[in-house]
Amino acid sequence: MALMPVAEALQRVLADAKPLPTEVVSIDEAFDRVLTEDVVALRTQPPAAVSAMDGYAVRASDVAHAPVVLKVIGQVAAGHPFTGKVGPGEAARIFTGGIMPEGTDTVVIQELTTQDKNGVTIQKPTGAGRNVRNEGIDFAEHQTLLRQGQRLTARDLMLAAAMNYSRLNVHRKPTVAILGTGDELVPPGGSPGPGEIVYSNGFALAALARGNGALVHDLGIARDRIEDIAAAVRRARELNADVLLTSGGASVGEHDLVQRALAAEGLELSFWRVALRPGRPMLHGRLGAMQVLGVPGNPVSAYVCAFLFLGPLIRKLAGRSDISDLPQSARLGRDLPANDERADYLRATLQDTPNGPVATPLPSQDSSLMAPLAKADCLLIREPHAPAAAAGSECVILKLGL
Ligand code: AMP
Ligand code: MG
Repeated sequence: MALMPVAEALQRVLADAKPLPTEVVSIDEAFDRVLTEDVVALRTQPPAAVSAMDGYAVRASDVAHAPVVLKVIGQVAAGHPFTGKVGPGEAARIFTGGIMPEGTDTVVIQELTTQDKNGVTIQKPTGAGRNVRNEGIDFAEHQTLLRQGQRLTARDLMLAAAMNYSRLNVHRKPTVAILGTGDELVPPGGSPGPGEIVYSNGFALAALARGNGALVHDLGIARDRIEDIAAAVRRARELNADVLLTSGGASVGEHDLVQRALAAEGLELSFWRVALRPGRPMLHGRLGAMQVLGVPGNPVSAYVCAFLFLGPLIRKLAGRSDISDLPQSARLGRDLPANDERADYLRATLQDTPNGPVATPLPSQDSSLMAPLAKADCLLIREPHAPAAAAGSECVILKLGL
């Protein structure tokens, strides 16, 4: 099988991924969830004109000239409307959030007044509409304020509640089962023996999955035996995972292991070699309704493949409207040689300069190196067969967030 271009591989991964069905959650649980429909305000905010300050609600025509003394005929505070009408020569004491009484059209702040038994003295002329928040200045009933496909922020929840929603319709969260493979792997925190390597991939992959809005099932580490891997694959199916992500078992010769275990479980293979560095032996297919991504074991390859393919896949399943990572442009921080037939995703740092961002590939790009990966701010994309590029020339990057 020829190497598949990255864009085509991504297209295949996303092709039959459908946004997951709706569930209703209380607004309390809706943080970071994705709306299945537009959300329309159920009320107007503020529902009536209210005072923005503590002071006196008056008729602007009475306070066009000052000083002037007005008769205080009532009091209004948030939650305690004044039912009377304020006539000429009258005022109502008002506090922030109090509804403007009938007849009034401006608020004189209390700092510009003195009150005694004769009434309130307004010391300075005040124009109409001062210190008043008009009805609907925030939003109006029937206005669409949140959109389908939007991932809800803390601020969105505040807005939804103000629109009078206690529950919201959101997509079910995608579930991702994560499996490591390798006889050499041991969990972190122990005392690795000779030849043992600390299992590290899974922690980045799980965090990346969660950061994109998925729930994670940790399937642990399978030994390098088809039966072990196949058993873990069956567990993923029993858990009804939407996605199975395996890492490892992908070097030449060994690759057969994960692929053969998946094949034994009925994998419909979509592709397994991508024109990508790091990450050539990546695999994609389906097991029934479950999508399968098999990424290489080398930590950088595992991460880059998950970043490029798992992230968008989760976002699509989650119903998000922002599925793709948006490439940005930067200037090269150093000369680069011509590229070969594989797209290169170089780990690079990013500096803001007066001439825009400068991306400098880290000196060592080996796919096993986790320290430079952790230090990187972005992936610098080199297209297949890109010609040599000089420092200062334009380049394309993907920012690494998670
Ligand atoms: P593999 O794809 O299984 O041939 O693994 C390639 C390299 O990545 C080997 O050096 C493995 O020890 C290493 N490796 C595989 N899986 C993991 C993992 N989960 N965490 C850290 N290193 C791994
Ligand atoms: Mg291995």
